[in-house]
Amino acid sequence: MIEFRDVKKTYPDGTKALSDFSLQINEGELVTLIGPSGCGKTTTMKMINRLIEPTAGTIYISGTDINDYNIHELRWNIGYVLQQIALFPHMTIEENIAVVPEMKKWKRKEIRERSEELLDMVGLDPSTYMHRRPSELSGGEQQRVGVIRALAADPDIILMDEPFSALDPISREQLQYDIKKLHQEIRKTIVFVTHDIDEALALGDKVCLMKEGRVIQVDTPQQLVLNPETKFVKDFIGERKSPWQTAIDVIAGEAESCVITKAAYDEGNYPTQGTFIIKDKDDKFVSALVNGQQVDDFTVFKNDIPLYKAVDELQKSHQQVYPVLKNDRFVGTLTYRDIISYLRRETAAKDGVIQ
Ligand code: ADP
Repeated sequence: MIEFRDVKKTYPDGTKALSDFSLQINEGELVTLIGPSGCGKTTTMKMINRLIEPTAGTIYISGTDINDYNIHELRWNIGYVLQQIALFPHMTIEENIAVVPEMKKWKRKEIRERSEELLDMVGLDPSTYMHRRPSELSGGEQQRVGVIRALAADPDIILMDEPFSALDPISREQLQYDIKKLHQEIRKTIVFVTHDIDEALALGDKVCLMKEGRVIQVDTPQQLVLNPETKFVKDFIGERKSPWQTAIDVIAGEAESCVITKAAYDEGNYPTQGTFIIKDKDDKFVSALVNGQQVDDFTVFKNDIPLYKAVDELQKSHQQVYPVLKNDRFVGTLTYRDIISYLRRETAAKDGVIQ
């Protein structure tokens, strides 16, 4: 889909940004470009839509040299999401999304339907958001609009240059999740620049690790972690977290079967054998019920504690299930079974048993 063949870039002041850079990106793939600051990630990305011209070498899109495309058509077919949220402040969200479709002379009705569909896709209710202006949205919401604006005219390729680096960690995590989901739905070719190795490994079908204008290793995240080809790769990736450091809400199960509502409990509608969690209508944890008796000093866990700490507690008490709470709200239950199957999955993946 996108191919860099022996591309070099030397800036007028003599800075060598890329040397003999070759990279193949297949259709529908999400490739993350990662490497130390100044290694040439942004230069590489900006060459795809011809914001920067190579000094030597050729870039092909679908087998055609990018210089052989009409530059406007080339750019319309490439969505671009920037680091700083670059919405037009005086335009509504709908008008912002409509910019490229209008240039492509789409009909009003088509543009409206497309805007609604895209806002829905990223969980922003169109009836609320279409007519707002960017200043009436949070940073995370604005960047979400930035992402769907890049998708609006249905481009084949999307370039993302550190799109989440200006966001707080929670919005960032949410958007990473959105992008992963969106990519699974739309299967566009995405080139994603980041300096965050966790983000690169989490999002990329393939990760391209660069250093001083060259490709050092291009591989799946798993291969990069399991089989780093050089010491540089190994050092860059660092020690991956042990599964014991994982926050327990990642491991906790849904376990609706061991949860009863306060309303049901108040009506006397509850089992008299086994352990159950009582929650109220707002999902707040009320208490536990063990063999029909309410237990008030039941051990509960906060969602963000690491697994090893939870296991220390588990060894002290003898409960069958442990409620996991986020801001007092019930988000799941943790059992030995959840922990064992999680560790089994994690270690099997590391041993190469599960691909
Ligand atoms: P990255 O995105 O990985 O941080 P860049 O592609 O922005 O790296 O930059 C690669 C190298 O090229 C750096 O050494 C940078 O200072 C240099 N560079 C980038 N743009 C220019 C420019 N317009 N003129 C001269 N040097 C530049």
